[in-house]
Formats: sequence, C-alpha cells, structure tokens
Amino acid sequence: MATILIVEDDALLLDALTGQLQQLEFGVCTASSVAEATALLQAQAVDGIILDLGLPGADGMELLTWARTHIAGLPVLILTARDGVEDRVLGLNAGADDYITKPFNMQELQARLQAMLRRARQPAFTQASSAGTPGTTIGPLALDHASHSAALDGEPLDLTQREWELLELLVNRCGEVVTRDDVLAAWRASPPEPGQTAAPLNSNALEVYVHRLRKKLDPSPLNIRNIRGLGYMLAKP
Ligand code: CA
Repeated sequence: MATILIVEDDALLLDALTGQLQQLEFGVCTASSVAEATALLQAQAVDGIILDLGLPGADGMELLTWARTHIAGLPVLILTARDGVEDRVLGLNAGADDYITKPFNMQELQARLQAMLRRARQPAFTQASSAGTPGTTIGPLALDHASHSAALDGEPLDLTQREWELLELLVNRCGEVVTRDDVLAAWRASPPEPGQTAAPLNSNALEVYVHRLRKKLDPSPLNIRNIRGLGYMLAKP
C-alpha cells in the first residue's frame, strides 16, 4: 500500500482528499505547512506527495526543493490555484512530476496520482552504452544516437526521420520543457525527409508528429505532456 503525504492548509480540502485517497486504500499522512511536512518526511517514509504551493509561512516550492535534494526519486504532484504558464513551468522545472490547478476534478487527480506512482516504480533514467556507441535509456525506451534508432521494451520502433529528431530532443531534455521553436529549429537544420519535401514545418505539423509519437510510445509509461502555450515535455519515468 502506497503512502501519500498531502500538504494542504485548506482544512476542508485536506479532509476531502484524505477521505478519497483512503477509499482507494492509500495510506495518508497530512501536513499544513512546509515545516510540518519536512519534519514528517524526516521521520517517516512516503511514496509520493500532493503539494499545495500557497501555504502559511514558507511557500510549497521550498518543500519541493528540499525534497529534491534530500529524498531521491520521491514523486511530487503540485496541486495549486496558481494557474499561470510561468508557474507551471517553474514547478515542473523545479522537479515536480505533475502539476494540477484548482479547481480540479477528483477523478483526474486520482488517475494522475496513480500514473505518477507507476512511473516512479519504473527504472530511473540511465545513460547506457553498447558496443562503444552512445545510447540513452529511459525506462523501457532505448535510443541509439549513432544509428538514429530506438527500441521500446526491446522491440525496434519504426520512426521516420522527423519522429526520431523529435524523440531524441525530448529524451535529451527529459523532464524539461522543449518549446515548439526548439523542435522546428532542429527540423529546419536537418535535411528534408525523403518523399516529404513539400510538408511545411510548422506548429500543425509538429502536433501531428507528437500525436504519432505518442501512439508509438503507447502503452509504455512514457508520457509526452503538452505544456500549454509553450511546447512539450517527456515526463521522467
Ligand atoms: Ca493553500
């Protein structure tokens, strides 16, 4: 049974979340400030955190930073009223595994919490090398940068050149936002795809490629997230 720490200063919301997670047979512990949460994390092991940002005293971001330096691999889901793009990017770049804004749908929160915990159980990001060629492995995905090929769970992925370039960019910056302009610039810097010379390289084309790549990565736990208004991010498994 996974134990979740909920850090939330709204007592009503804290009660509701606690009840919901207990119904799903999670162990739950709670804190209403960063100081309380830090003390609790030093005394007890948990499997994940649901973290409010607007807390009395220290901001929730301080707990995120603390957890990132003190507890390796602990998944953190931010649940906050701060819905600006900059806030989301700040939270994700500071190492949050997911970011949900209030008001939220309880079922979506549950689904994303479960997905986050599943990803946390996958093997961590590792740099691998085989036969002297540099490769990268993220969970079930293995990239061979020299041959521009990728495999999922050991099965070769059938990727077009543009799909490969997009995937490599996302993998190289796993856990960070890759902007649309980054991808388009990388595409424009490389030769056109055979037989695809007429296809314009723009945001619409990018959406199509992201959609195809998601389908090829499905049903692995790898998740290409839309970061609204900015671009995409391959979530760390
Ligand atoms: Ca709050």
